[in-house]
Amino acid sequence: MLYFSTNGQSPKVGFEEAVLQGLAPDNGLYFPAAIPKLPSSFFESIEKLTPHEIAFQIAKQFVGNEIPEDKLQQIVSETLDFPIPLIEVEKDTYSLELFHGPTLAFKDVGARFMARTLRFFLEKDAKPATILVATSGDTGGAVASGFFGVEGINVVILYPSGKISTTQEKQLTTWGKNIFALEIDGTFDDCQKLVKEAFADSDLKNKYGLTSANSINIARLLPQSFYYFLAFRQLKNKSKGLTFSVPSGNLGNLTASLIAWKMGLPVHRFVVASNRNDVITKYILTGLFESKPSVLTVANAMDVGNPSNFVRVLEVFNQNFDLLKDKLVGHSYDDVEIKNCITAVYQKTEYVLDPHGACAYMALQKELKETEVGIFLETAHPAKFSETVNESIGHSIQIPESLNEIIKKEKVSIQCQPSLNDLKGVLSTILK
Ligand SMILES: *Cc1c(COP(=O)(O)O)cnc(C)c1O
Repeated sequence: MLYFSTNGQSPKVGFEEAVLQGLAPDNGLYFPAAIPKLPSSFFESIEKLTPHEIAFQIAKQFVGNEIPEDKLQQIVSETLDFPIPLIEVEKDTYSLELFHGPTLAFKDVGARFMARTLRFFLEKDAKPATILVATSGDTGGAVASGFFGVEGINVVILYPSGKISTTQEKQLTTWGKNIFALEIDGTFDDCQKLVKEAFADSDLKNKYGLTSANSINIARLLPQSFYYFLAFRQLKNKSKGLTFSVPSGNLGNLTASLIAWKMGLPVHRFVVASNRNDVITKYILTGLFESKPSVLTVANAMDVGNPSNFVRVLEVFNQNFDLLKDKLVGHSYDDVEIKNCITAVYQKTEYVLDPHGACAYMALQKELKETEVGIFLETAHPAKFSETVNESIGHSIQIPESLNEIIKKEKVSIQCQPSLNDLKGVLSTILK
């Protein structure tokens, strides 16, 4: 499988090169040169396959022979070593709970696959490396968890100071060893920009062997398509059209869902849900893409004003807006609507939504037709956003034990201004 750069200047590369580079040398994002279509027999008998077998079949299409089959089997089974239940919340409305991994957010799926893939390539080539990653809240913890204690690999996490939940912050600042948390005096967009600038600086990139772990890395993006197939497997016998509602920020999850569809997964429509950071939902409505500074919301992992995977979404539709509009609809919600939704759904069904899942739920309810069965993605455990959720449901949600232990630990972070010079200074002190 070859990958091209969305900026069209860099040469095509194989899977390993695309994973190790993260961002292409021309600053474009890598994208599969062709999305393989799975045979109809695969879908006809999908219920006979285990989740690991399904994930392996999908991964194999993108990895080719660049990872030996037994190793890829192992990577896939370690990636999906937690359940991904599909819960019927109301008639024909299902929650795909993606938050049962170690950091209680869906980012665990992509991060675990990417960490193991990168480890395999780096150990094979005996290259020391530094993973540089910007986080809007959940990525950092998931990546740290995937790389903690790995010899020869350092992880540097950039997060926006004061703009993530206390729990999220503890999940990235309490590791020690090879994990460093940089508290950036700015927004998530500043963090993301800084990471891009660092990659564009070839001296810096070579000096530390910088590798990305954001959803710009193809190894984080592709495994996120697994769970759309797993959801389909569970609902296959419904005769209605399948509609997914995806709570969106950087659009990694949406891109993965579209890749699954391109591989042949029968999806009727995709609903894109956002908070007040509505660049994508506006685009779907008008065809105009206007990035803007992100604003802080209670669904903070979607506080993205310039979603980096947007170019990949366009790529799926061959830059054709009419095709895109046929498949996607979008809606955005403010904090009051999100909180009211959590309250209403709890009172009606006793199901506890998190703020991100609430956006997806609302958008799905608005769109779902009689002829469709809808699945919204629950991307984080509600306990990760207990301040908002407790207020909305009127009592304290139970905190999982694993989270309690992290909350008790002491935060260790390094302050940094959103400038490349400052970042260079910090890197030279921590990565000796
Ligand atoms: C990252 C994140 C999102 C947004 O996903 P993208 O792939 O960036 O669009 C949604 N919900 C939660 C809980 C997240 O952590």
